[in-house]
Amino acid sequence: MFQTFRARVALMFGVLAIVAMGALSLGLGAMVAREQARDQGDALHTLGRGTAAALAEGLFERMREIELIAATAEGLRPSLDSAEWRPLLDRMQATRPQFAWIGVVDAGGRVQAATGGLLNGQDVSGRPWFKEALKGPHVGDVHPAKLLATLLPAAADGEPLRFIDFAAPLLDAQGRVQGVIGAHGSWEWAKDVVQAVRSESVRERGVQIFILDRAGQVIHHPAGPQAMATLAAGVALPLTPSRVAWSDGGEHLSVAVPVPARNAITQLGWTVVVRQPVDLAMATAARARSVVLVAGALAALAVMGLAWLAIGRFSRPLQAISTAARRIQAGDLAARIPEATQSSELRQLSDSLRGMTQTLVERERALEQANAGLEERVAERTAELERANTELQKLARKDALTGLFNRRAADDRLGEEMARHRRSLSGLSVMLVDIDHFKRVNDTHGHAAGDAVLRELAQRLSRRCRNTDFIARFGGEEFVVLLPDTPVEGALALAEKMRRAVADEPMPGGVGLVTLSIGIASPAEYFVDAAAALAAADEALYTAKRSGRNRAVMYGQPYPLAAD
Ligand code: GH3
Ligand code: MG
Ligand code: MG
Repeated sequence: MFQTFRARVALMFGVLAIVAMGALSLGLGAMVAREQARDQGDALHTLGRGTAAALAEGLFERMREIELIAATAEGLRPSLDSAEWRPLLDRMQATRPQFAWIGVVDAGGRVQAATGGLLNGQDVSGRPWFKEALKGPHVGDVHPAKLLATLLPAAADGEPLRFIDFAAPLLDAQGRVQGVIGAHGSWEWAKDVVQAVRSESVRERGVQIFILDRAGQVIHHPAGPQAMATLAAGVALPLTPSRVAWSDGGEHLSVAVPVPARNAITQLGWTVVVRQPVDLAMATAARARSVVLVAGALAALAVMGLAWLAIGRFSRPLQAISTAARRIQAGDLAARIPEATQSSELRQLSDSLRGMTQTLVERERALEQANAGLEERVAERTAELERANTELQKLARKDALTGLFNRRAADDRLGEEMARHRRSLSGLSVMLVDIDHFKRVNDTHGHAAGDAVLRELAQRLSRRCRNTDFIARFGGEEFVVLLPDTPVEGALALAEKMRRAVADEPMPGGVGLVTLSIGIASPAEYFVDAAAALAAADEALYTAKRSGRNRAVMYGQPYPLAAD
């Protein structure tokens, strides 16, 4: 199928189109992928920065509230009495549910007043937040609840309680540390912040937000605290969006954003990490690439089809021309080379082939005509030759001088008669007649007189013959006579008649009398063949000559004496 010019060109176009579309789709795909990686990275970065800002703001706000109470406590609440502080603390907690517990501790570390009366009278002097707050405002990093773990209701999702500690010293009028106000901020707050920035569509696209502490430990994992252990600590995370292979599997587009502390106290060294699986991040690019690939394949097919149709315009007339040429080659001179106008090359090819065929046809016709003329002439010549031949044959069988049959005719006839008479045994006689001393006639009267004698003799002998008899000049002055159905007696009688016809009447031209000697073989069919019969007649003639001439002698019989 791919042997034809048309199929090959179409295929070539198809391959070219595939290569072009492939290159285009690869280039375009790479471009789209680059763009998307950048855009997606930017989006993740923005998300990270928003989360970090919200966290920083939250920490700062909470710390400021505690500091505010601590600052105003000196005027409002000179003592650390529970009855004075408790309503204030409870009201405060009611408006700020993120605080799981707020309490006032004396300088000795004993809890004087607390929300819900929890931990009242307990010694917290060993707790870091208390110790730190004696020196100044303090924010303590997230940690699991200790004393309160059993006293407070568990979280809705069953997670163990975790707190961030906010604490500030309570100073008296002289600026001495009177005690400490401390609050445990629920870590649920961080979850809420993340939840707020991570919209539904962002979640659907696999975007996850983590919070790491100063040491690189995960303190917030979207899948809950149980999943935190699955992440290796201290992963070198990029500050610009990059692909990172994570220890919990899979390559992610990731970016780390340090939480920008509003002041030194709230500087906990947290980092927000935002990540998204690469395949989800690059989904649009992948889709675009496959769309371009499919479109490219379709375009290649279309190009191939168009090329096939377009080439058909040129290959069809070529095919028609070659079909016609093949018919002409097979001998069909009536076949016409079709005219082609699709291109100058095609027109030239068709014109020159047509011209060639025309010449060929004309030559063929001329040759045919010449052949026909030749055949006619050959037939004419043949007829002429045949006519001449019959004439010649006729001539060849006759003796020109006497008009009698010649020796050849005599031989033929003798053969035929011998065959016929051998079958019927009806008695064929062969007679040889010779002029006596003819040489003398020539010598005395001349050759012309001799010829005249020969002609006269032929006449006289012929006249004595019957219709069925055959007489021929056998050579020189010798004649042969064949007598069918003539027995010995008949032959002898005729011989005698002939002898007398010559001997009794002088020849014209002053030649005078001549005589004949005759030898007879009868019946001739008794001899082996014509030659034997002739030989016998010749022997009888010889006998006639020897015994005195002017007589007829029968082969095998005693010969008569001369008549005169
Ligand atoms: P014989 O009695 O023994 O037959 O003697 P002859 O002279 O007839 O025989 P020979 O054979 O010696 O001579 C034959 C002669 O016949 C010789 C030749 O000149 C002559 N002759 C043969 N054919 C022709 C011819 O066509 N015309 C003429 N004018 N003479 C001929
Ligand atoms: Mg003779
Ligand atoms: Mg003779």
